[in-house]
Amino acid sequence: MQNFNFHSPASLEDALTYLSDHAETCKIIAGGTDLIPNLRTEKLYPMHMLNVLELEELSGISENENTIRIGPTTTFTELIETTLINRFLPLLVKASSQVGGPQIRNRGTIGGNICTGSPAADVLPAVIALDAELELRSKKNGTRRIAASEAVQAPYNSNLGPDELLTGIFIHKLKPGARCAYEKIATRNAMARAFMNLSIVLQRDEEGVISDVRIVPGAMMAFARRITVAEEVLAGKKPDEFLIAKAAETLLGDLKGVWIPDYKIPVFRNIFKRLLGELLLKS
Ligand SMILES: Cc1cc2nc3c(=O)[nH]c(=O)nc-3n(C[C@H](O)[C@H](O)[C@H](O)COP(=O)(O)OP(=O)(O)OC[C@H]3O[C@@H](n4cnc5c(N)ncnc54)[C@H](O)[C@@H]3O)c2cc1C
Repeated sequence: MQNFNFHSPASLEDALTYLSDHAETCKIIAGGTDLIPNLRTEKLYPMHMLNVLELEELSGISENENTIRIGPTTTFTELIETTLINRFLPLLVKASSQVGGPQIRNRGTIGGNICTGSPAADVLPAVIALDAELELRSKKNGTRRIAASEAVQAPYNSNLGPDELLTGIFIHKLKPGARCAYEKIATRNAMARAFMNLSIVLQRDEEGVISDVRIVPGAMMAFARRITVAEEVLAGKKPDEFLIAKAAETLLGDLKGVWIPDYKIPVFRNIFKRLLGELLLKS
């Protein structure tokens, strides 16, 4: 077992000070479901460990008129069981219920899923499809906000500074009439890494025209991001089978330059067409 100083701060202020004092040699730990396996295999050698799981300021789910704030230490089970999330952000419920098995969902947190930046993360793509904003805080620079789509800069590499904490995830409540879909393909139902997943959020106006669409595949690219070429084919149009087929044909444009095993493209295209068909062509 490795030796490190383990600090459980009494307050957010205390946490930010500890992080600022030990930024380069410190790892933040929440549920530990990503971090502890890496400590065991000695991929990481932190000298300091900052435990944020018990920090009240990083927990809880709250709302104002249009927005929901999710504390980063919220577990997947809490997301699945919270009425507010079921009512306004059902995509998060669908994505969270696909994570690991019950033990992982009870322990793993949404903040950990975002900050790990795994290419195969299940919840990060849904958070991006929901156009979330992330609140980051550090002792030196105070508070800043970034789009969830900017959270990761390379596989397993977040855009957070070494002295920064993720302190809140802010997501607009889906408007009435907005629709969303999530699907994960993996070898078995529990404890399996995604071969691919797909998150879709869209909105149509009174005439049935697609007014807003965000599509985010997971485990298809080095890290999750929106596929904007396909989105542009759909936006501003009235949907029919031909439009969906046309958008599916452009998927390779979005995935250009990315190495993907051959089998994934047709499977992904079929899931894409089926989910869009369910959202747009069925009442
Ligand atoms: C058996 C098993 C199965 C799994 N199955 C899945 C799966 O199906 N789908 C999936 O997406 N993931 C899966 N995972 C991965 C993992 O459970 C998730 O990524 C989880 O969300 C990580 O959350 P955590 O709280 O445990 O993070 P931790 O391990 O505590 O931390 C992960 C990373 O995030 C950083 N971090 C955490 N909180 C903050 C914060 N507030 N501010 C800044 N940095 C922070 C840590 O420093 C660390 O780098 C699985 C893991 C295991 C062990």
